[in-house]
Amino acid sequence: MFDKSMGRLCIYAGQCPVHKGLVALKQPLFLVKNIYCNNGPRWWNKCKVYVRFEAGDEINDQMVPADDLSVQ
Ligand code: SF4
Repeated sequence: MFDKSMGRLCIYAGQCPVHKGLVALKQPLFLVKNIYCNNGPRWWNKCKVYVRFEAGDEINDQMVPADDLSVQ
């Protein structure tokens, strides 16, 4: 079934250090954005940074969306 929310940009993109390119990811940023940031709420919710934003927790530039991603 088509998910109308797919392809939507994360609501925290404007303030997110990952999305702004401030996190020194080993993996290409465009791939991370395509998987998490530009993929609607279903994938935003799989992002650990998104979950922290939702919880009102502190965000810093060492945080990555998932355990299989890493900082240089
Ligand atoms: S999905 Fe995660 S990494 Fe992407 S903008 Fe939202 S909080 Fe940041």
